[in-house]
Amino acid sequence: MLRRTKIVATLGPATDSPEALDKLIEAGIDVVRLNFSHGSEEEHLNRAETVRNRARAHGRQVGVMADLQGPKIRIGKFVGGKIQLAEGDAFCIDMGMEIDAGTQEAVGTTYKELHNDLSRGDSLLLDDGRIVLWVRDVDGNKVNCRVTVGGALSNNKGINLQGGGLSAAALTDKDRADILIAAKMQADYVAVSFVRSAEDVREARKLLIDAGWGECGIVSKMERAEAIPVADEIIAESDGIMVARGDLGVEIGDASLPPVQKRLIKLARSMDRFAITATQMMESMIENPIPTRAEVFDVANAVLDGTDAVMLSGETAVGKYPEKVVEAMSNICIEAEQQRAAKVSGHRMNEHFRRRDEAIAMAAMYTANHLGVKAIASLTESGHTALWMSRISSGIPIFAMTRNLQTRRKVTMYRGVYPVSFDLTDKSKGEINQEMIDELVRRGVVRTKDTVILTKGDLVGEGGGTNTMKICRVGSMSADDLDAESS
Ligand code: PGA
Ligand code: MN
Repeated sequence: MLRRTKIVATLGPATDSPEALDKLIEAGIDVVRLNFSHGSEEEHLNRAETVRNRARAHGRQVGVMADLQGPKIRIGKFVGGKIQLAEGDAFCIDMGMEIDAGTQEAVGTTYKELHNDLSRGDSLLLDDGRIVLWVRDVDGNKVNCRVTVGGALSNNKGINLQGGGLSAAALTDKDRADILIAAKMQADYVAVSFVRSAEDVREARKLLIDAGWGECGIVSKMERAEAIPVADEIIAESDGIMVARGDLGVEIGDASLPPVQKRLIKLARSMDRFAITATQMMESMIENPIPTRAEVFDVANAVLDGTDAVMLSGETAVGKYPEKVVEAMSNICIEAEQQRAAKVSGHRMNEHFRRRDEAIAMAAMYTANHLGVKAIASLTESGHTALWMSRISSGIPIFAMTRNLQTRRKVTMYRGVYPVSFDLTDKSKGEINQEMIDELVRRGVVRTKDTVILTKGDLVGEGGGTNTMKICRVGSMSADDLDAESS
């Protein structure tokens, strides 16, 4: 059974060797995430190259997403490596302190402006919320706090402000440099961390264009409280979003995450953008060979929410069972996709379409969902027709057939869309029809007498040119008849 939901796997020490990558590819990953919070330029370039080589060896397409670190604010280091904080203790974040001179009373930070963003009564969440500090007062560049939730605190842990509002810009100097690396490796997607506004996304887009890699898709990571009210503006500038539940949960409170996840995925889909659901989906499998029931439900629920992709972080980067976790996740997705809720759609029933290709995409899906169609083959240049189609929930696989490598790589992220290399050189219209159908037969997705839908343009090879939809029965007539019949 073809899985529709895509799996994004973060690479790291556990998956660096070509052998480990082979196993991940065989287990079914669609996209890799290179986490630019760790690793050197050389490591990232090597990883991207190895992924593409191994994918090619498997006859597969695997997308590459470069994930920028962004302004993740961290505490410095402690002289003794870690301290123990108890409720009621006084503790100070001191912008003037050396980064590695932390003590039981105070620690430095990577963000030297932190004191300007805080005032009495704020709550700082350290280490993903495991430690909570209440701001008693701000004295010059010292933030004096009282511990309200204690525990062990070790080097370089993250700091978030409850409710959001830290003013650090989304793109740091390191991110700007890393965008050049992403351009160098021709990453299919760049993920921008801690996006606050549409302007942050426009800036990232401009940097990519200036770096000569404007084809790159942009994923906006929704992980700041202030991004949620302007999500529609951010999505409009992006190719897709990531529901980055780690940092977002810390800022808005974990209890608020489920409704926000559902709303963001729905909004992205309705705006013809894709959504990735990320963080702690299979967390326990970092250590264990099977997931918890709660994790099984989390992945399945994300599929029912309509996510395009589910993401693995530590599970594949540093976990003990990288390929097992991909297999387990894949099985959960496939089961969830059989639910009626994952297949039906009322999307766009009452809307006007802006473009001809969009209208064809919608007509194809409407027909497919009502005529017992087995598969859709879309001859596409930019992949747009396939993206539109996949915004409509259905159980019908959509094959994006294209000679454009970049398009084949990009569609790795779209739910229910599968990349197919397709060369039209010197083929007549009838031959193209037949070849599209033959490709579906070769892949084992259709057989004689099955009904399939083909979409394409009169001017083959031109982006945005799709203006034709064809309903065919496999094997019932010659390709030329197919064309003659429609004219
Ligand atoms: P990160 O982003 O893993 O880069 O922090 C995802 C998240 O915050 O959930
Ligand atoms: Mn994050």
